[in-house]
Amino acid sequence: MNQYKEIKEILCKCCGEENVIAEAPMKEHTHFRVGGPVDLLVTPSTKEQVGEVVSVCKERNVPYFILGNGSNILVKDGGISGVVIKLEKIDNIEVNGDEVTADCGALLSKVSKAALDAKLTGLEFACGIPGSIGGAVFMNAGAYNGEMADVIKEVSAIDSEGNVVNLTLEELQLGYRTSLIMTDGYVVLSATLKLEKVSDENVNKIEDRMNDLTRRREERQPLEYASAGSTFKRPEGYFAGKLIQDSDLKGFSIGGAAVSEKHSGFVINKGNATAKDVLDVIAHVQKTVKEKFGVDLHTEVRIIGKDK
Ligand SMILES: Cc1cc2nc3c(=O)[nH]c(=O)nc-3n(C[C@H](O)[C@H](O)[C@H](O)COP(=O)(O)OP(=O)(O)OC[C@H]3O[C@@H](n4cnc5c(N)ncnc54)[C@H](O)[C@@H]3O)c2cc1C
Repeated sequence: MNQYKEIKEILCKCCGEENVIAEAPMKEHTHFRVGGPVDLLVTPSTKEQVGEVVSVCKERNVPYFILGNGSNILVKDGGISGVVIKLEKIDNIEVNGDEVTADCGALLSKVSKAALDAKLTGLEFACGIPGSIGGAVFMNAGAYNGEMADVIKEVSAIDSEGNVVNLTLEELQLGYRTSLIMTDGYVVLSATLKLEKVSDENVNKIEDRMNDLTRRREERQPLEYASAGSTFKRPEGYFAGKLIQDSDLKGFSIGGAAVSEKHSGFVINKGNATAKDVLDVIAHVQKTVKEKFGVDLHTEVRIIGKDK
């Protein structure tokens, strides 16, 4: 911990003492509600501060991890060495004609509501994804036949050298749950989305679609439990949930973690799971599905940190 004393002082000067926490338990900052502590958790209030924190970490060779809304990560029980940079305070949303520019920490639920209020269609698919704009660009998040690649015009980001750059849709190289942001270690600062204006009489169609998608999520997903959503990526030609169900793994449980009874594609924390329980369930599911169907399931959830 001593090695982080100096960096803690620098981060406190940069972001304010109240925004730097030592030994912060990551289970309090992730939807899965598991995981050990990070050495330092810093919550910058401006994009400039994000740049400064990234530079400080790079200059001192301190590992850092960018945290959006924590809805797609699984932190191991031994926690994280280094600095977690939490972006929740950088959440401005601006509408300009048929474009919405949202800062990295803005939640998709709020951005899609802002689009609805401005009579803009195109972002309805994202209203129930519990992530931030930054996390959604990183993952090219998608649902119900829509994905971020359909709506992004451009993104402002910090590149791997620490420069602030603008990236066009093509430059972002968005694919199924992948992006340049992911492969090349960029930090998303904001994203501009291009949507479509609808006439006054069609505004309720946007709202109806959002309500319908929310209802479908509530009916099919185990939202009453902590999780990171779909645990596995969709394997080419299959559905992960169906393969898991057909392997008789519905409800399969180790410790406090289980395959959801409601949606087999979700591994859930029943309340007292450790990260190891979750990882053991994941490994068992992968092994069983491989043996039964010869299909490799790869995790969509990002697994970080160290074992206890
Ligand atoms: C109940 C539930 C339902 C879900 N449904 C869906 C769904 O329908 N579709 C879907 O795609 N996903 C879904 N997810 C997963 C998750 O919400 C998305 O992947 C979301 O985009 C993650 O955003 P986040 O802000 O929470 O990212 P985090 O979990 O905080 O981070 C995820 C990754 O993104 C990186 N990251 C975050 N912000 C930035 C940034 N500003 N710059 C660079 N990297 C960044 C992180 O370093 C990390 O590697 C669901 C999750 C849950 C819990």
